[in-house]
Amino acid sequence: MGVYSRTPLAFERGEGARLYTTDGEAYLDCMAGIAVNALGHANPKLVAVLKEQAEKLWHVSNVFTIPGQERLAKALTDATFADVVFFGNSGSEAIECAIKTARKYHWAKGQPERVDIIGFDGSFHGRTLGAINAAGNPNYLEGFGPPLPGFIHLPFGDFEAIKAAVGPTTAAIILEPVQGEGGARAWQDDVLRAIRQLCDETATLLIYDEIQCGLARSGKLFAHEWVEGATPDIMAIAKALGGGFPVGACLATAEAARGMVVGSHGSTYGGNPLAMAVGEASLAELVKPEFQAHVREVAGYFTQQLSGLTERYPDVVEDIRGKGLLIGLKLKTPNREFMQHARDQHLLIAGGGDNCVRLLPPLNLTIAEASEAMEKLERACETARSRAKAAA
Ligand code: PMP
Repeated sequence: MGVYSRTPLAFERGEGARLYTTDGEAYLDCMAGIAVNALGHANPKLVAVLKEQAEKLWHVSNVFTIPGQERLAKALTDATFADVVFFGNSGSEAIECAIKTARKYHWAKGQPERVDIIGFDGSFHGRTLGAINAAGNPNYLEGFGPPLPGFIHLPFGDFEAIKAAVGPTTAAIILEPVQGEGGARAWQDDVLRAIRQLCDETATLLIYDEIQCGLARSGKLFAHEWVEGATPDIMAIAKALGGGFPVGACLATAEAARGMVVGSHGSTYGGNPLAMAVGEASLAELVKPEFQAHVREVAGYFTQQLSGLTERYPDVVEDIRGKGLLIGLKLKTPNREFMQHARDQHLLIAGGGDNCVRLLPPLNLTIAEASEAMEKLERACETARSRAKAAA
């Protein structure tokens, strides 16, 4: 189906932060499959565990005990607020599980009327019916029938609106601590804390979508860890967990997951041995304090360099935002054109809402590679400036 707006670029292989086209041209990858290849392309550790597992066992049904699944679930619960984990194959599936878990929680508590999921402008939770309804972006809902009942949408960041909206039929609030597709927008710390408190007072569940901003991208294992007193009850993760192998997971406290009993949910492929082997190896890297310190160092370098760029090109770059290596440049010139200017410099960057472009490099990007990315961005800014002048 023609659902993607594709560029003709086709890559044949990758190594670290480099991608090579079928005719051998090298590109510096600062989008990483949209925050997926966190450990770079063809990471030797991930390749090794995948090969090793491929020779042993690919798939068995979830009617059997899967030791890799138990190990990865333990590693995830050890590293987070969560007590239990459900594995799926994508971010959207993790979101579906999160929504179902939240509604089933209230049902199990004898309050089946509590079904409403409150989401926010600019959010993105995936493309399944549940996920597009949770995010409420009209562009993604259009043509797919009536919006599903039980979803409420509020402006981004407006705590008073949230307070007014939470009521006797509210099940959960869902948000990305740092919005990805929406243009690298971070929620304010005090607003997140106030939401957590409101959830506690009203027995509303707090769901975080850390599919893009989580797993060390922000410089801590999860973006919400930057804010004290704002842990969720349920959290969806994916992307970096598999470093490119499809895997997603829904994490929850035992209390929030109380309705998820035998028969409540399931997946044929979720938690398969291949995904678990890669997930275990990825997570083992991402949880290392020195790995997260590296992310913060490279992010700090970008922040400093990008502020210089903004000063030199105020006619092109309006604002820098985001957290860690989820960096948004809000532009004054069209973002789609800017992405092409960057590609002309053999730099790959992602688009984003609100006329942003995003830098989402592999998290093990070196400072030398970051510096190369900055040189290419500088040239892209130069092109954007001369195009704007020629058009004026
Ligand atoms: N939530 C967020 C925050 C995302 O960035 C994405 C993917 N861009 C998703 C959900 C959906 O993930 P998937 O495409 O793996 O279903």
